[in-house]
Amino acid sequence: MKVFKFGGASIKDANAIRNVAHILQSYRHEKLVIVVSAMGKTTNALEAVVNAHAKFAGNAQELYDAVKEQHYSILRELFEANDDVFSIVNDTFVEGEWVLDEAPNEDYDYMYDQLVCMGELVSTRILSAYLNKAGFPTQWLDARDVVQTDNTYREGWVNWDKTKANAQRIVPPMLEAGGFVLTQGFIGSTSENFTTTLGREGSDYSAAIFSHCLDAESMTIWKDVPGVLNADPRLFENVLKLDRLSYKEAIEMTYYGATVIHPKTIKPLQNKSIPMYVKSFLDPSGEGTEISSDTEDTYPPIVMVEKNQALLHISTLDYSFVAEHHMARLFSKLANQRIFVNSMQNTAISFTICVPNVPERIDKFIKEISDEFKVRKEEHLELITIRHYTQDTIDNLKKGKIVLFEERIRNTTQMVVRNIPPIERRVVDMAGSKAV
Ligand code: ADP
Ligand code: ASP
Ligand code: MG
Repeated sequence: MKVFKFGGASIKDANAIRNVAHILQSYRHEKLVIVVSAMGKTTNALEAVVNAHAKFAGNAQELYDAVKEQHYSILRELFEANDDVFSIVNDTFVEGEWVLDEAPNEDYDYMYDQLVCMGELVSTRILSAYLNKAGFPTQWLDARDVVQTDNTYREGWVNWDKTKANAQRIVPPMLEAGGFVLTQGFIGSTSENFTTTLGREGSDYSAAIFSHCLDAESMTIWKDVPGVLNADPRLFENVLKLDRLSYKEAIEMTYYGATVIHPKTIKPLQNKSIPMYVKSFLDPSGEGTEISSDTEDTYPPIVMVEKNQALLHISTLDYSFVAEHHMARLFSKLANQRIFVNSMQNTAISFTICVPNVPERIDKFIKEISDEFKVRKEEHLELITIRHYTQDTIDNLKKGKIVLFEERIRNTTQMVVRNIPPIERRVVDMAGSKAV
């Protein structure tokens, strides 16, 4: 069997859904598990509902109704008015109404997961109804019956043994019955049957979980780009498609911010030598990118940009050296606050780290270590990572930037930069003293 994953962009409206059915036409005789995200930007819209509910803003129901209406308008384009899918989708949305009917739960992350999962639950209801109508028998599977996690809401940690046992018990008989099996990305459940999510953009990871647990022959994720490119096409021109990547290269790229693939995706595939393909849903016959083997190709320079970073310059209060026991304490505090260190450097009495700028977490961290360390924070920064760099690429990327921190190891270079603010031209007559 193979696993396919379709993301939000691939099912963003009625035409996009028709296009997915068209792609699947060529695979109708294959055993396929299809993992699907929420439609378009639905997850962002549901996050706004959660926020409004948590803050008693008074408009949570209104925002939720708008999400529902967006889905109904797509349904009206795809189905006759008397189709069963309308009541199926309506019943699915009721799970979210229950959350809104109650006072906001004090555990924000728990409440978030119970509501935000709606996006994937309804998108899969719609797509499976459409595929059945288009003549492709498709069974809908609740991913929460398979993917079991701990109760770290919004960042559920997979219990692999339980998930594997569930997958192997539930999915093969469904595939044997013929037709596609369609399920949700991004969601799982705790042992008490509460919904969890796996972290934003986590549907690629879900597909890898299913692939790993079911020993898939391959996994394909369908994106709005021709494959993995050597830089984000939204930020750079003249990017190159990478035809083949090793697992290692792909892990490094995704870790440093190539958002085309969720960073947790590669490991479960590599562990079972399952090849992964990144292909375009806009040009399904294109070759895409193959991520397989552990042997390295030669690569062109590959650039990743992580925005919204902060540098924390941490130094001891009493001028003692930053020693191993300090590091151990700092890292355990960072881990407690779930602050991920993207890069670091140290001198005798200071230690500098580049981290995503999440002010609530950073403030708590600074407070927790204030008995021993002082911290200077610089914000509004970008972390640029270049793999297989050339001097030309580095020079080009530095243009218009102030480099605050630079680090080079073998084939990777990292720079933390700030944009040089445009200097306002002073409208002053420099010959005299009068403004003009
Ligand atoms: P999905 O619809 O599956 O959620 P995403 O939008 O998360 O897909 O990922 C696709 C996007 O990733 C592309 O539109 C592109 O802008 C961005 N991207 C960032 N880095 C790269 C890269 N190195 N190669 C290709 N796309 C990239
Ligand atoms: N819908 C989720 C998100 O937007 C998961 C995903 O699309 O991968 O984060
Ligand atoms: Mg995505």
